[in-house]
Amino acid sequence: MLNNPLVKKSLSKIVEKEHEENLKRRFKEYYPDDETPEGIDNLIRALNLPKEDIEYIANDIQETVEKTIIPIIKALMDGIETDEDIAEKTKIKLNIVRKILYKLYDLKIANYKRSKDPETQWFTYSWKFDEEELIRQINAEGEEELNELNEDLKNEENNMFFVCPLGHVRYNFDEASDEEFLCVCGEELQFQDNTDRIKQIKKDIKLIKSDLNSFNKKLKKK
Ligand SMILES: [Zn+2]
Repeated sequence: MLNNPLVKKSLSKIVEKEHEENLKRRFKEYYPDDETPEGIDNLIRALNLPKEDIEYIANDIQETVEKTIIPIIKALMDGIETDEDIAEKTKIKLNIVRKILYKLYDLKIANYKRSKDPETQWFTYSWKFDEEELIRQINAEGEEELNELNEDLKNEENNMFFVCPLGHVRYNFDEASDEEFLCVCGEELQFQDNTDRIKQIKKDIKLIKSDLNSFNKKLKKK
């Protein structure tokens, strides 16, 4: 189940959050008087990040999910319970194992029990992975994404769109006529054929549906 693209997508939230915090700090340095945007995509746009930086972030997210987070979850699913045993089994540094465990805990997909060793008085944390919760979250995220895409599709199918040839704005018919079919830059707005956009949305919907189906089908087979 951990190889399903929806699982990877859901787990990438963990790494995305870190990049988002970094980008927010960068934004505040550059534009101390502006309101900091929320969400990694909006930050990338607002900072006008070069292609190399965007690629670096995407690679880092993918690598951390595949080489760090998934192996740690696998170890938990195999019944390994303590951070030290997980670090030994996966060869991932103990401080990183700990960091990821607490991130999984924040997402409510892992939890721990604390117990005191009667002799040494030390606390031991036994960790467990909550597979049910991850499955629930993946289905909920998939449904939410499908709802958004269906809204987009309806909006594209039921409207005509007009754009500035220089890329400044995209308006539906009512918005465009309010502006007398002129962009703020003075250019005349042009009708935009959105057939390809509609095709793309339909493709995206189909893909998510089939990912969700195969994800849930594989679970039933177990
Ligand atoms: Zn314009």
